Amino acid sequence: MSLVDSLAERLNAVQERIQAACARSGRRPEDVTLLAVSKNHPAETVAAAVELGLTVFGESKVQEARAKIPLCPARARWHLIGHLQSNKARDAVALFETIESIDSLSLAQEIDRHAAKQARNPKVYLEVNVAGESSKFGWNPDRLQAELAEVNRLPRLEIHGLMTIAPYSTDPEKARPVFRRLRELRDRCSEILGAPLPVLSMGMSGDLEVAIEEGSTIVRVGTALFGPRPRLTRPASSDSDPE
Ligand SMILES: *Cc1c(COP(=O)(O)O)cnc(C)c1O
Repeated sequence: MSLVDSLAERLNAVQERIQAACARSGRRPEDVTLLAVSKNHPAETVAAAVELGLTVFGESKVQEARAKIPLCPARARWHLIGHLQSNKARDAVALFETIESIDSLSLAQEIDRHAAKQARNPKVYLEVNVAGESSKFGWNPDRLQAELAEVNRLPRLEIHGLMTIAPYSTDPEKARPVFRRLRELRDRCSEILGAPLPVLSMGMSGDLEVAIEEGSTIVRVGTALFGPRPRLTRPASSDSDPE
């Protein structure tokens, strides 16, 4: 089967899952964006996905995105979904329309500084470590509420919403309280700002139904669309440059 055919089959299955979750929770499928996580997959895979109508793609690493994005169809729009080191903020601002992984005030300030230099207005989501996992990046919920007004004062950033990654589990129901808490935190943040925060980026291949039932507006799906991720062979020179 060709790349496009097998991708079309998987895309269909993912769209059916999204539609079923929307039907169960009285939501409209057009209110849930499917973001295709293309990390570790080549530009040809992105091109096949664009051919099938997907337009929003997620990458975890600036370095990989820098090599791949120029080879992809210009119609593709790019979200950064992985942790960003401040020394890569300049490239991140140049490459990505949306940065979903803003996880500290200092990173927000760094992004704002580069956005001013490049005359850009990046959309940002604030990443929250809802479950307080030591292995994960993201704002502590209390700290986010304390610092939110200051983030909002950065002139170049457009804060669109919140993002989280639920703790890994084979039981998607375990993620439900995490997703619910992100939604409640979004409501409080929106009150603090006195403005709507429409985006909730939550849900991946294993737990997208639960995320949609809890209000997700963008699900980040890799494996269910593209199959298992091939391991990237990286040039040796990048070994000293972890992201
Ligand atoms: C890799 C990744 C995903 C996609 O995960 P799958 O389980 O393959 O769907 C989603 N979000 C983030 C932040 C990721 O790093």
